[in-house]
Amino acid sequence: ILRSPQALQLTLALIKPDAVAHPLILEAVHEQILSNKFLIVRTRELQWRKEDCRRFYREHEGRFFYQRLVEFMASGPIRAYILAHKDAIQLWRTLMGPTRVFRARHMAPDSIRGSLGLTDTRNTTHGSDSVVSASREIAAFFPDFSEQRWYEEEEPQLR
Ligand code: ADP
Ligand code: MG
Repeated sequence: ILRSPQALQLTLALIKPDAVAHPLILEAVHEQILSNKFLIVRTRELQWRKEDCRRFYREHEGRFFYQRLVEFMASGPIRAYILAHKDAIQLWRTLMGPTRVFRARHMAPDSIRGSLGLTDTRNTTHGSDSVVSASREIAAFFPDFSEQRWYEEEEPQLR
Protein backbone atom coordinates (compact mmCIF):
# COMPACT_ATOMS: atom_id res chain seq x y z
CA ILE A 1 0.00 0.00 0.00
CA LEU A 2 2.93 2.33 0.65
CA ARG A 3 4.32 2.06 -2.84
CA SER A 4 1.84 4.01 -4.96
CA PRO A 5 2.05 7.34 -6.81
CA GLN A 6 -0.53 8.71 -4.34
CA ALA A 7 1.61 7.85 -1.34
CA LEU A 8 5.05 8.32 -2.90
CA GLN A 9 5.24 10.71 -5.83
CA LEU A 10 8.48 10.97 -7.81
CA THR A 11 10.23 14.16 -8.85
CA LEU A 12 13.51 15.09 -10.49
CA ALA A 13 15.74 17.41 -8.50
CA LEU A 14 18.97 18.91 -9.78
CA ILE A 15 21.72 20.64 -7.87
CA LYS A 16 23.07 23.15 -10.35
CA PRO A 17 26.74 23.95 -11.06
CA ASP A 18 26.86 26.98 -8.74
CA ALA A 19 26.06 24.71 -5.79
CA VAL A 20 27.97 21.56 -6.78
CA ALA A 21 31.12 23.69 -7.09
CA HIS A 22 31.00 24.58 -3.40
CA PRO A 23 31.10 21.63 -0.98
CA LEU A 24 29.34 23.46 1.86
CA ILE A 25 26.49 24.56 -0.41
CA LEU A 26 26.22 21.11 -1.95
CA GLU A 27 26.06 19.60 1.53
CA ALA A 28 23.45 22.13 2.67
CA VAL A 29 21.14 21.23 -0.22
CA HIS A 30 21.68 17.50 0.30
CA GLU A 31 20.85 18.01 3.98
CA GLN A 32 17.54 19.64 3.00
CA ILE A 33 16.68 16.48 1.06
CA LEU A 34 17.50 14.25 4.03
CA SER A 35 15.89 16.36 6.74
CA ASN A 36 12.63 16.55 4.78
CA LYS A 37 12.59 12.75 4.63
CA PHE A 38 12.73 12.37 0.88
CA LEU A 39 13.55 8.88 -0.30
CA ILE A 40 16.58 9.10 -2.60
CA VAL A 41 15.57 6.70 -5.34
CA ARG A 42 18.54 7.34 -7.64
CA THR A 43 21.32 9.89 -7.74
CA ARG A 44 24.22 10.63 -10.07
CA GLU A 45 26.69 13.38 -10.78
CA LEU A 46 27.47 14.36 -14.34
CA GLN A 47 28.44 17.23 -16.56
CA TRP A 48 25.96 18.19 -19.24
CA ARG A 49 26.70 19.00 -22.86
CA LYS A 50 25.04 22.16 -24.17
CA GLU A 51 22.79 20.14 -26.44
CA ASP A 52 21.46 18.22 -23.41
CA CYS A 53 20.68 21.54 -21.70
CA ARG A 54 18.94 22.89 -24.78
CA ARG A 55 16.74 19.80 -24.98
CA PHE A 56 15.99 19.76 -21.24
CA TYR A 57 15.02 23.46 -21.23
CA ARG A 58 13.42 23.57 -24.68
CA GLU A 59 10.20 25.08 -23.23
CA HIS A 60 12.27 28.24 -22.63
CA GLU A 61 13.71 28.49 -26.13
CA GLY A 62 13.46 32.10 -27.29
CA ARG A 63 13.37 33.60 -23.79
CA PHE A 64 16.06 36.19 -23.11
CA PHE A 65 17.75 34.00 -20.50
CA TYR A 66 17.80 30.78 -22.54
CA GLN A 67 21.35 31.02 -23.87
CA ARG A 68 22.65 32.12 -20.49
CA LEU A 69 20.86 29.22 -18.82
CA VAL A 70 22.26 26.68 -21.30
CA GLU A 71 25.84 28.00 -20.86
CA PHE A 72 25.48 27.95 -17.09
CA MET A 73 24.03 24.46 -16.84
CA ALA A 74 26.85 23.09 -19.02
CA SER A 75 29.55 25.02 -17.11
CA GLY A 76 30.32 22.37 -14.49
CA PRO A 77 29.17 19.21 -12.75
CA ILE A 78 25.57 18.87 -11.63
CA ARG A 79 23.93 16.33 -9.33
CA ALA A 80 20.64 14.71 -10.28
CA TYR A 81 18.25 12.92 -7.93
CA ILE A 82 15.04 11.01 -8.31
CA LEU A 83 13.26 11.86 -5.06
CA ALA A 84 10.16 10.18 -3.66
CA HIS A 85 7.82 11.65 -1.05
CA LYS A 86 4.14 12.33 -0.62
CA ASP A 87 3.45 15.26 -2.98
CA ALA A 88 7.17 15.31 -3.82
CA ILE A 89 6.82 17.74 -6.75
CA GLN A 90 5.15 20.51 -4.77
CA LEU A 91 7.15 19.85 -1.61
CA TRP A 92 10.49 20.14 -3.42
CA ARG A 93 9.40 23.29 -5.25
CA THR A 94 8.29 24.85 -1.96
CA LEU A 95 11.63 24.00 -0.36
CA MET A 96 13.45 25.52 -3.37
CA GLY A 97 11.52 28.79 -3.20
CA PRO A 98 10.71 31.18 -6.06
CA THR A 99 12.72 31.07 -9.29
CA ARG A 100 14.10 34.60 -9.12
CA VAL A 101 16.59 35.42 -6.44
CA PHE A 102 15.12 38.77 -5.38
CA ARG A 103 11.70 37.26 -4.83
CA ALA A 104 13.22 34.22 -3.13
CA ARG A 105 15.26 36.30 -0.69
CA HIS A 106 12.31 38.50 0.21
CA MET A 107 9.40 36.10 0.14
CA ALA A 108 11.10 32.87 1.23
CA PRO A 109 14.41 33.78 2.88
CA ASP A 110 14.80 30.33 4.44
CA SER A 111 14.20 28.48 1.17
CA ILE A 112 17.10 26.92 -0.73
CA ARG A 113 17.13 29.63 -3.39
CA GLY A 114 16.36 32.37 -0.88
CA SER A 115 19.31 31.43 1.29
CA LEU A 116 21.79 30.02 -1.26
CA GLY A 117 20.83 31.32 -4.72
CA LEU A 118 23.29 33.69 -6.39
CA THR A 119 21.34 35.19 -9.32
CA ASP A 120 18.15 34.60 -11.30
CA THR A 121 20.03 32.09 -13.46
CA ARG A 122 22.41 30.64 -10.85
CA ASN A 123 19.67 29.65 -8.46
CA THR A 124 21.09 26.46 -6.93
CA THR A 125 18.45 23.85 -7.76
CA HIS A 126 15.88 22.59 -10.26
CA GLY A 127 12.65 20.76 -9.57
CA SER A 128 10.07 19.27 -11.92
CA ASP A 129 6.88 21.34 -12.13
CA SER A 130 4.29 18.63 -12.92
CA VAL A 131 3.79 14.88 -13.06
CA VAL A 132 4.27 14.98 -16.84
CA SER A 133 7.53 16.94 -16.67
CA ALA A 134 8.77 14.78 -13.80
CA SER A 135 8.41 11.68 -15.98
CA ARG A 136 10.14 13.32 -18.92
CA GLU A 137 12.95 14.71 -16.78
CA ILE A 138 13.51 11.46 -14.87
CA ALA A 139 13.82 9.63 -18.20
CA ALA A 140 16.31 12.23 -19.45
CA PHE A 141 18.70 11.57 -16.58
CA PHE A 142 17.94 7.96 -15.74
CA PRO A 143 17.03 6.27 -19.05
CA ASP A 144 17.17 2.78 -17.49
CA PHE A 145 14.79 3.68 -14.67
CA SER A 146 11.24 2.39 -14.97
CA GLU A 147 8.72 4.17 -12.77
CA GLN A 148 6.27 1.34 -13.19
CA ARG A 149 8.81 -1.27 -12.15
CA TRP A 150 9.87 0.85 -9.19
CA TYR A 151 6.33 1.11 -7.91
CA GLU A 152 5.68 -2.57 -8.44
CA GLU A 153 8.87 -4.28 -7.48
CA GLU A 154 11.53 -2.42 -5.60
CA GLU A 155 11.76 -2.36 -1.85
CA PRO A 156 11.98 1.15 -0.43
CA GLN A 157 15.58 2.00 0.47
CA LEU A 158 15.10 4.27 3.43
CA ARG A 159 18.12 6.51 3.99
P1 ADP B 1 12.01 27.04 -12.29
O1 ADP B 1 13.44 26.52 -12.30
O2 ADP B 1 11.67 27.69 -10.98
O3 ADP B 1 11.02 26.01 -12.72
P2 ADP B 1 11.71 28.25 -14.92
O4 ADP B 1 11.33 26.90 -15.40
O5 ADP B 1 10.81 29.40 -15.23
O6 ADP B 1 11.96 28.25 -13.34
O7 ADP B 1 13.14 28.64 -15.49
C1 ADP B 1 14.16 27.67 -15.62
C2 ADP B 1 15.47 28.27 -15.15
O8 ADP B 1 15.84 29.37 -16.03
C3 ADP B 1 15.43 28.93 -13.78
O9 ADP B 1 15.58 27.99 -12.71
C4 ADP B 1 16.60 29.87 -13.85
O10 ADP B 1 17.84 29.18 -13.71
C5 ADP B 1 16.48 30.38 -15.28
N1 ADP B 1 15.66 31.59 -15.32
C6 ADP B 1 14.31 31.66 -15.26
N2 ADP B 1 13.85 32.92 -15.31
C7 ADP B 1 14.96 33.70 -15.43
C8 ADP B 1 15.18 35.11 -15.52
N3 ADP B 1 14.15 35.97 -15.51
N4 ADP B 1 16.45 35.56 -15.62
C9 ADP B 1 17.48 34.69 -15.62
N5 ADP B 1 17.37 33.36 -15.55
C10 ADP B 1 16.12 32.85 -15.43
MG1 MG C 1 10.78 25.09 -14.58
